[in-house]
Amino acid sequence: MRLKLAVIPGDGIGPEIVREARKVLDRVTEIYGHEIQAAEVLMGGASIDAFGEPLTREALSVIRKQDAILMGSVGGNAATSPWYQLPPQKRPEAALLRLRKEMNLFANLRPAYLYKELRGACPLRDEIIGDGFDMMIMRELTGGLYFGERKTEERDGVVTAVDTLVYNENEIRRIAKRAFDIAGKRRKKVCSVDKANVLDSSRLWRRVVEEVAKDYPQISLEHMLVDNCAMQLVKDPRQFDVILTENMFGDILSDEASMVTGSIGMLSSASLNDTKFGLYEPSGGSAPDIAGKDVANPIATILSAAMMLRYSFDLDREAADVERAVEQVLEEGYRTSDIMAEGCTLVGTAAMGDLIAERIQG
Ligand code: NAD
Repeated sequence: MRLKLAVIPGDGIGPEIVREARKVLDRVTEIYGHEIQAAEVLMGGASIDAFGEPLTREALSVIRKQDAILMGSVGGNAATSPWYQLPPQKRPEAALLRLRKEMNLFANLRPAYLYKELRGACPLRDEIIGDGFDMMIMRELTGGLYFGERKTEERDGVVTAVDTLVYNENEIRRIAKRAFDIAGKRRKKVCSVDKANVLDSSRLWRRVVEEVAKDYPQISLEHMLVDNCAMQLVKDPRQFDVILTENMFGDILSDEASMVTGSIGMLSSASLNDTKFGLYEPSGGSAPDIAGKDVANPIATILSAAMMLRYSFDLDREAADVERAVEQVLEEGYRTSDIMAEGCTLVGTAAMGDLIAERIQG
């Protein structure tokens, strides 16, 4: 298969961690007989430096011709970087919002998986962790409260702010379908999270999710109120497979879920539209504090590349091979500094990429 990729190294640690993910992908394609056709694209601060804006029309047109994007992260140190002297719509992060909008990336996926070797980094008690957990938070990314009408005005002499939470049935249906499809590749359970005891938008959410569920008889569906879900994530995270939720609830729950797994350097993510196209990037930022020092953990980006193989190219076996290679390297005791523990071997960014690539077996 030919994998047509836009590769966006980005800023800070971005180029270092993307290089390692490419190393692993090159190894996968070599072993499994695929071919990568990569177009490198500048975005964020790197694009501001080169072209004066964070995402050019040319860059977008190159991206549109690809099947997926592999990205580092964009942005710099807001206190010191000249990029932050620019108006908000010209800053590095504006490129990300524009890219999501232009490519209609409405479904954000963040896995929360606890590696048994990293149990020590999990803040939960042993009896709660049990034999580990493995869940996927699916958050709606382009609707809801963050995109509804908002205003601040004076009402009867009192300053009043209004945000509007809007969803239509089509927006709910398309993300629900995505969640059921993804559950089909996993343990076949969807937990849809809402606040249907209070919000109209949640009652519609629940009704549409129920309708979609009828087309997926092999997937079990339960509904959970968001406040209960926030508790259950720390009380019994093992009960979850796919958690499906709207934008703001997902924003909060995905951070909560990811923090029970340990380092930000381990957390992959994907943003998908209603074709196979997706943007794959680590959940963390560009970490300017450690950029260029060969200390960043490349695993989140490597695992994001594995998600790309699975969700944009349906290469499930190859994706599983990458995930297994990561697990093996951790089992053998190799660690970057963010996940370092006593008795383990400290390695840098490039060495971690080499170790993982070498363990891809086919
Ligand atoms: P950050 O995630 O970059 O860093 C937070 C902390 O985590 C830092 O101590 C950093 O060293 C550490 N860290 C992050 N990734 C790591 C890795 N792979 N290995 C080891 N340690 C890692 O968050 P921040 O400092 O708030 O943001 C820095 C810049 O990144 C800002 O400009 C911000 O806007 C941008 N940002 C971009 C994205 C994106 O491109 N999607 C997301 C979040 C933040």
